[in-house]
Amino acid sequence: MPIATINPATGEVLKTFEPMSADQIEERLRTAVDGFAALRRTSFDQRAAWMRAAADILESERDQLAALMTTEMGKTLASAKAEVTKCATGCRYYAEHAEAMLADEPRGAKAVKALRAYTRYQPIGPVLAIMPWNFPLWQAIRFAAPALMAGNVGLLKHASNVPQTALFLGELFRRAGFPDGAFQTLLIGSDKVEAVLTDDRVRAATLTGSEGAGRSVAGIAGRVLKKTVLELGGSDPFVVMPSADLDKAAEVATIARCQNNGQSCIAAKRFIVHTDVYEAFAERFVAKMTSLVVGDPMDDATDVGPLAIEQGAIDADEQVRDAVSKGAKVLLGGERPYRPGWWYPPTVVTDLTPEMRMWHEEVFAPVAGLYRVSSYEEAVEIANDSPYGLGSNAWTNDPGEQERFADDLDAGMVFVNGMTTSYPELPFGGVKHSGYGRELAELGPREFCNIKTVWVG
Ligand code: NDP
Repeated sequence: MPIATINPATGEVLKTFEPMSADQIEERLRTAVDGFAALRRTSFDQRAAWMRAAADILESERDQLAALMTTEMGKTLASAKAEVTKCATGCRYYAEHAEAMLADEPRGAKAVKALRAYTRYQPIGPVLAIMPWNFPLWQAIRFAAPALMAGNVGLLKHASNVPQTALFLGELFRRAGFPDGAFQTLLIGSDKVEAVLTDDRVRAATLTGSEGAGRSVAGIAGRVLKKTVLELGGSDPFVVMPSADLDKAAEVATIARCQNNGQSCIAAKRFIVHTDVYEAFAERFVAKMTSLVVGDPMDDATDVGPLAIEQGAIDADEQVRDAVSKGAKVLLGGERPYRPGWWYPPTVVTDLTPEMRMWHEEVFAPVAGLYRVSSYEEAVEIANDSPYGLGSNAWTNDPGEQERFADDLDAGMVFVNGMTTSYPELPFGGVKHSGYGRELAELGPREFCNIKTVWVG
């Protein structure tokens, strides 16, 4: 993939970049090592002040930054602005809470025959962060804010289609006052990841992206025995039971599927509806999906813009065609329009069967699969019949069912009567092919720490 800004709404190439040379990468690795030596000796108060300054920069440059993201990957301008604000909030959250999250934890000294025993969280060094284009700012900040507060430094290999957002991120923390090398961008293609990850100076890697990229990075890291955190795809179920508030469920289902033009790992993708309310839900859901305005992502009236990359539109088209050729019915959309740019319309497909690609694959576009089930057990069976296990949603006002879904859904996150959302306060991550490790809350900053046991006799 070339490193370039290509407007997905038009297909126009706006700016191309040369990948960094081996010498430039080497210089950044050296700077990262020096940056780590400097950063790890700073106090939490100092890092928190810098982190708050980064939040200030994000807030003051919100509108330009949002327009840049919209130009590079097609999310609506309104959602891009919201993303910048969310990043500033995330930075402030870790500025305030990291010290308590990473404080020494006393252990029962008496039981281990010590005067004192405790665990101490210490940073480990440069972490390679391989990030995707879908939330080009948030995905990177979700790693960077906790990591820098812990005293680690970051090397960002961002997706090749968001180079200008990547360059902004590479400057952000230095501008906020962090030492040189605390967070740098490596403008490289994925072909250079192996060389960087196997370099002794890089201590670990985090990747958010596709299953294929996850397998590759985990394989390389395994060979050199380095820790990875993987946040991969998802095909989240959205179960609707008879006691649910159907109006609310249909409204949230539409947002949960079409947020970010359908390109979110935690988007609800499979809508599993009890037969008692199937028709009533389907009618409301299709009506809501029909009412979405598709158009220029810069326009405030737009709900759904283009897909970020051409391959995304090709993949969605092939997945829907595959389902239709095997007997699925299209209730809405289902045709890729002939126009410049990478467009795919809001689509609802029903009568899906396990032979169809949509049953098991993630659809990274505003395409909803609708499933009819006749019992709680069948709902859970279909919800769990996926290689993925990231988020999940259950809609029911029956308290007993709410608890059962929390137990039975095979996912890293269960949201009852709401859509899966990432909050700094809640751990974020998946099971099965959705990856491993957790981001956010107190677990995010701890993932890349040496959790050191100290025993004093
Ligand atoms: P990728 O996984 O290809 O890209 C994500 C990041 O990984 C990019 O920085 C990319 O770099 C890098 N990368 C890709 N392949 C490798 C590799 N073999 N080794 C090291 N790094 C690699 O995602 P796409 O952008 O192609 O999107 C395709 C699919 O990925 C989607 O359909 C969706 O399933 C999933 N995805 C999931 C996301 C999530 O939030 N969980 C976000 C985005 C995508 P480069 O751009 O240079 O290739």
